[in-house]
Amino acid sequence: MIFPEIKGNEKIKESLAKLQSRMPHAIIIDGGSAQLRETLADHLAMWAVCESDEEKPCGVCKGCKLAKAKSHSDIYYAKGEGKTEIYNKDIMSFIIKDAYIKPYISEKKVYILSECDRKFPVISQNIFLKTLEEPPLDVLFIMTCESGKSLLETIRSRAFSFTLESEISYDEEELDLAKEIVTGITARSEMELLKATYKLDSRNKSLNVLELIIMLLRDGLAVYLGGEAELDEDTARTLCKKLTKKNYIELIEITKDAKTKITQNVGLKLVSTDLCAKYRRTLWQR
Ligand SMILES: [Zn+2]
Repeated sequence: MIFPEIKGNEKIKESLAKLQSRMPHAIIIDGGSAQLRETLADHLAMWAVCESDEEKPCGVCKGCKLAKAKSHSDIYYAKGEGKTEIYNKDIMSFIIKDAYIKPYISEKKVYILSECDRKFPVISQNIFLKTLEEPPLDVLFIMTCESGKSLLETIRSRAFSFTLESEISYDEEELDLAKEIVTGITARSEMELLKATYKLDSRNKSLNVLELIIMLLRDGLAVYLGGEAELDEDTARTLCKKLTKKNYIELIEITKDAKTKITQNVGLKLVSTDLCAKYRRTLWQR
């Protein structure tokens, strides 16, 4: 099976495998970035129209090829009205009516409603809900949104949800600091690590740097297990010489804990001092 590069996609693959035998009538994709949501929506649409009897989507059948070219007559990308691109009453009425017409070439018909937080007002959701209560058998509705909570609870309960992990945007300075901290963890003297963690002086910067540390550690673990690094190959190779699998897992957990504490508004100084101590303990209790 082909699969788009989506962070946390192992979980998505698992969910998808569970769906292989029985496709739901509606799927909600939230979290991640708009682009990732779009990628997954396209992938699921392809999966719905794939003609293969084996694992779907095969990527090579006529259905998959047309889907990939975005020219499949059974995949409908809903367009909102006017500048605001709202899915208004008229548009929803059209979609609902159309959904009861048999698919043209595939066994399934797909409707993609994108960025529902912004485009899908409650009044239109209510119109749509009636269709979801007794959906046409051969139809799949895919809704994407920043947060699934922007959709009515009654819609959510009738849909299968995929939540994507968030992507981070960071600058070079943050990546450098993340590398400095990761290198500090394995340094002989504690001073390097202390000095580096001392630079975690703002909330946003700290959250980004900690996420980058997690990514660097995951890279290290991947290389350690014979895989490839995604973010930084050099750091991963250097780490590999010094850390065990158990170390990686513990260090990742410690970093995640620190992130949680920051989001809970625990003081930065306290978090960074604690982080430093826990990192060191992990390494020197070997
Ligand atoms: Zn196919």
